[in-house]
Amino acid sequence: MNPSNFLKIKNKIPSNVNILAVSKGFKSQEIKTIQNIGQNDFGESKLQEAFEKQLTLKDLKQIKWHFIGRIQSNKIRKIVQNFNYIHSIDSFEQLQKISNISCEEKKNPLLMLQVKLSDDPTKGGFNPELLIKKWGDIKELKNITLTGLMTINPRGLSSKKNLELFKKCRTLADSLQLPDCSMGMSGDWEEAIEAGSTWVRLGSLIFGDRS
Ligand SMILES: *Cc1c(COP(=O)(O)O)cnc(C)c1O
Repeated sequence: MNPSNFLKIKNKIPSNVNILAVSKGFKSQEIKTIQNIGQNDFGESKLQEAFEKQLTLKDLKQIKWHFIGRIQSNKIRKIVQNFNYIHSIDSFEQLQKISNISCEEKKNPLLMLQVKLSDDPTKGGFNPELLIKKWGDIKELKNITLTGLMTINPRGLSSKKNLELFKKCRTLADSLQLPDCSMGMSGDWEEAIEAGSTWVRLGSLIFGDRS
C-alpha cells in the first residue's frame, strides 16, 4: 500500500463525500500509513480483528472506528463500547438493543440503518416499507444518533442498475430526513457518488487485494 495511491483516490472524491477506509484484512501498519496523511475513519467487520488493531493503535486518538459487519446480538455491548459508528444495523430488535445498551454504557453511537433494496439472499437489511412503518417507534429510541442509511449492492450489476439502487437509497434517506447514505465500495463508488452517497466504503481500492 503506498500513500500516493491513497491521495490519488482521495483527489477523485468530492470533498463533501467522506471516505471510510475499510481496513478489514489489512494490518495496523497500513492503517497508520494513511492515518499519517489525514485519513481518520476506518471500517472493520470482525470484532476480534478490530480489537487487536484498536489496541495497537490506541495512541492515535483521532481515529474513528466504524463497525460494518454482521451484528450478533450477544456482541452488541462490545460494539457499542468500542466503535463510534455502526453501519450495519438490520432490524428493529437490534436497534432497540443498541439503544438499551447505549443507555447503560452512557454512549451515543452514530448509526446508519442497512436497507435491503434488491432481493439478494446474501444481504440483510431493513425492508424499506417496514422501516417507514416503524419510523415513529425508531425515533423514540434513546442514546442513539441516527445519521443515515447504508446499503450494499449485489455484485456484478450494470452501472445503470447500481445507480438505480443507490438512488432508491438516497430517496428513502431524504424522505426520512437523514443526511447520510453509506453506499459505494471499490467496484461501484462512482455510481454511489453520482446518486448522493456521503460515505463511500473503500477497501481494496485503497489497500490492494486482500490475501
Ligand atoms: C469489505 C467491505 C467493504 C469494502 O469492500 P471493497 O470491495 O474492498 O472496497 C465495504 N463495505 C462492507 C460492508 C464490507 O464488508
